[in-house]
Amino acid sequence: MRLSAFALSTTKETPADAEIVSHQLMLRAGMIRKLGAGLYTWSPLGMRVLRRVETIVREEMNATGALEVLMPAIQPSELWRESGRWEQMGDLMLRMHDRAEREYCFGPTHEEVITDFVKRDISSYKQLPVNFYQIQTKFRDEIRPRFGLMRAREFIMKDAYSFHMDEADLDREYHAMRAAYTAILDRIGLDYRVVAADSGAIGGAKSEEFHVLAQAGEDELAVSEDGRYAANIEAAITLPGKDERPAPSGELRKVDTPGVATIADLCQSLDLPVETTAKAIVVMGDDDKPVLMVLRGDHTLNDIKAEGIEGIATPLKFAEENVIREHFGAGPGSLGPVNTNVRVIADYAVQNAADMAVGANYDGAHFVNFNWGRDAIEPEFADLRNVTAGDPSPDGSPLSVLRGIEVGHVFQLGDKYSKALELSVLDENGKAVTPQMGCYGFGVSRIVAAAIEQCYDDAGICWPTAIAPFELVIIPIKADKSATVREACEKLYTECRQAGIDVAYDDRGLRPGPMFADAELIGIPHRVVVSDRGIDAGTLEYKGRRDSENSQIEFSLEALRQK
Ligand code: ATP
Ligand code: MG
Ligand code: MG
Ligand code: MG
Repeated sequence: MRLSAFALSTTKETPADAEIVSHQLMLRAGMIRKLGAGLYTWSPLGMRVLRRVETIVREEMNATGALEVLMPAIQPSELWRESGRWEQMGDLMLRMHDRAEREYCFGPTHEEVITDFVKRDISSYKQLPVNFYQIQTKFRDEIRPRFGLMRAREFIMKDAYSFHMDEADLDREYHAMRAAYTAILDRIGLDYRVVAADSGAIGGAKSEEFHVLAQAGEDELAVSEDGRYAANIEAAITLPGKDERPAPSGELRKVDTPGVATIADLCQSLDLPVETTAKAIVVMGDDDKPVLMVLRGDHTLNDIKAEGIEGIATPLKFAEENVIREHFGAGPGSLGPVNTNVRVIADYAVQNAADMAVGANYDGAHFVNFNWGRDAIEPEFADLRNVTAGDPSPDGSPLSVLRGIEVGHVFQLGDKYSKALELSVLDENGKAVTPQMGCYGFGVSRIVAAAIEQCYDDAGICWPTAIAPFELVIIPIKADKSATVREACEKLYTECRQAGIDVAYDDRGLRPGPMFADAELIGIPHRVVVSDRGIDAGTLEYKGRRDSENSQIEFSLEALRQK
């Protein structure tokens, strides 16, 4: 690709509204442009990366024998009513009407649609097992779309759904999908962990998540040192037996809040040794929306009231209503038995290195009614360290907590959807059987951002070669003055293309500085510089994106190939 014809649009300035590195760099590199909250256009540069991810995902899915389909993004409400999720999905689902006032949603996921599809064409055990997948646009009206493509409202997911005669066969396919996800992440070349997960609103028995490790990750993973146990912290703290243990020894205090301006003030008024960087965990509930938040010391109490404001507070994933209800009871005034609250809040506070934990009945004014400082919650950490595979075990190896970005999720759904939507097939004895289902999601657009979180430096993105927009960039020096340089570049460019190298030729006529800066910002793994001096000496100046120094290599495709 000639960069003069590629509509590259980079900026030096870091956009003010982008909090995390991947979002900043995707904007600076001109990979994406924002249209509205959680809505992004992919530029030609962004598309190159996205397509590479898609290709890897597609190849690995095809290799398992899964079959690609494409389902409508718009789905009629009837199916969702049958599964009981039309209400359950709440505000997450974007709903709409057609001209005949029929109800639809823009699909946040496709269990209902695929079950309907299978119901129409599959009726015998001879047609099973089968696994259908698609790579498609989803819409979820996330409470806080943020971090660019990381938590968008419109995003691209690979979702697969498998159907089986029995649980054993579902288990087999589940492991095949797990292996495919491992292969995908290995090919992309990222550091990741597979962790046990809560099944959440999708339901079902067994589920695991794939997390790309990065500080910017919204999830916390409890991973044991011996590697035998790894779980999303949500799953770790809901292990059997945890809630039955006694409340921590922390003092329970009722506090009035007037006159307290910030979380740090609040901590101080409670004699807690905190600074303005202090963090607090707050659990609050208004009439129908319990929310668990992590707040910084400089957040004000009004910020808590204004929890709808983007970027002010971070509701943890526990904020997903049905899950939080399990732990906190039905709502305000009934936050559940205090012991349960205490335990879960303390766990979160410890995990988030908070200086205090606050439970609240939020009425907009006096919201604090109990709290702990760090001294009280720290001992809880010891307990959490003893959580190992399945149950707390006496010889448990210590747990450490890592941050991760959820890029994939595999579930054994069982018969939840096949039963609700009355899917049945005949077995070899002619008896009707409800098939077992699995579902397997992968964040195709999210992983682009996740890869950047793991692969960047001060100059910009350092793509893993497997998903880089180009493999190689050719940069000419003083091409405007030297026909020799122009010709040498053209020749090298043509040879590279003929050799199947995905090459960018920076023929924009810029000075070397801006060309180097762009090549580093957009993260091209290999760079060669063509100059009169090099041509005279028969050399190319080579630099790998992560190399600190240039090196001279022979001016030939072969020498380049060695790199
Ligand atoms: P999260 O916990 O981050 O909200 P999820 O558990 O709701 O994700 P799933 O329903 O498991 O997501 O969907 C499968 C995959 O789709 C996720 O593992 C993630 O990679 C991707 N995904 C989900 N929500 C978003 C989003 N808002 N933006 C981008 N990708 C997303
Ligand atoms: Mg979600
Ligand atoms: Mg999740
Ligand atoms: Mg998930």
